[in-house]
Amino acid sequence: MLNLLNLDRQGLSSFFIKLGEKPFHATQVMKWIHQQGVLDFDAMTNLSKALRLRLKEIACISLPQVDMLQTSQDGTRKWLLQLDNDNSIEMVFIPFDARGTLCISSQVGCALDCRFCATGQQGFNRNLSVAEIIAQLWLAEHTLRAEQKSERAINSIVMMGMGEPLTNFNNVVTAMNLMMDDLSYGLSRRRITLSTAGIVPAMRRLREQCPVNLAVSLHAPNDALRDQLVPINKKYPLDQLMAACRAYTKGKPGRQITFEYIMLKEVNDSTAHARALIKLLKGIPAKINLIPFNHFSHSSYQCATPEAIENFRDILMQAGLLTVTRKTRGDDIDAACGQLAGIVRRRKNTI
Ligand code: SAH
Repeated sequence: MLNLLNLDRQGLSSFFIKLGEKPFHATQVMKWIHQQGVLDFDAMTNLSKALRLRLKEIACISLPQVDMLQTSQDGTRKWLLQLDNDNSIEMVFIPFDARGTLCISSQVGCALDCRFCATGQQGFNRNLSVAEIIAQLWLAEHTLRAEQKSERAINSIVMMGMGEPLTNFNNVVTAMNLMMDDLSYGLSRRRITLSTAGIVPAMRRLREQCPVNLAVSLHAPNDALRDQLVPINKKYPLDQLMAACRAYTKGKPGRQITFEYIMLKEVNDSTAHARALIKLLKGIPAKINLIPFNHFSHSSYQCATPEAIENFRDILMQAGLLTVTRKTRGDDIDAACGQLAGIVRRRKNTI
């Protein structure tokens, strides 16, 4: 049965046309599902009874099951969502004042095998469907709205949960189109950030098809070190990655790339590394996010000392690079960057 959560505005219009119905029903159904949070066809009162009956026969609107919800001392929340018998994923809501940011997963596990990441260490099973991606926003938005009795709960999205979003390109782009559509969540392009470990050809396609904010997980200023930490670097080394970053910002005034840099003790945190980073980023409109390493079981890395992080930041700032140290949120419930694991019962190690 077709899950209507898989369809964006265009997909829903074609669906109704194929049924021999008027395409404007797409507008009505999108509003019911995404704006009103209605999943029951019978409650869609502006559709004729006959159409509702027909929809019930051939389609469904189905969400993953919420297996667990944990709340951190700092208000961060983590949901464990069961997709099917073999797979569960996690998503995280990070509140700031009245509203907040939702961190969304794009795959079950991850195939990239970054050495410092819990998701990478568990292996990869499969891509998420459009429905499984947008359902994360649906669940968080409508749960929080009901709880807070507010009209709006989530005002920004980061595609930074489990998985590499650019290796699930089509589904991620369709889901982001739904996030931005005025008939559903109406989030502006600037309120969505996609984080990638550097899938160079897909970065070019993203600029053409859905140019949201881009964050790049850099983590090392030279190929020798980056090959070890982020193995996809062997396929797309730094000269290619930097060229793709330049191309992403070209001709779009005001656009900056956020470079994420995890701070690992005595691995990538020295003054020399900071200087090399400044050289590497020359000429690219950049903002730098230093991420203190978050520990997970079986990891042999340690977080850089606060002094090393401060020193690193000072050197970058003195060179005129806007640098922010990311505040760790939700680590008491393993909801911080790199700690998401979910459940991957079956592993495939290819994308
Ligand atoms: N695959 C994408 C998005 C997922 S990870 C990417 O690589 O960008 C989101 C961010 O968390 C990335 O910058 C990632 O490198 C970082 N991260 C992974 N493990 C971490 C850890 N243990 N501590 C801190 N940050 C981590």
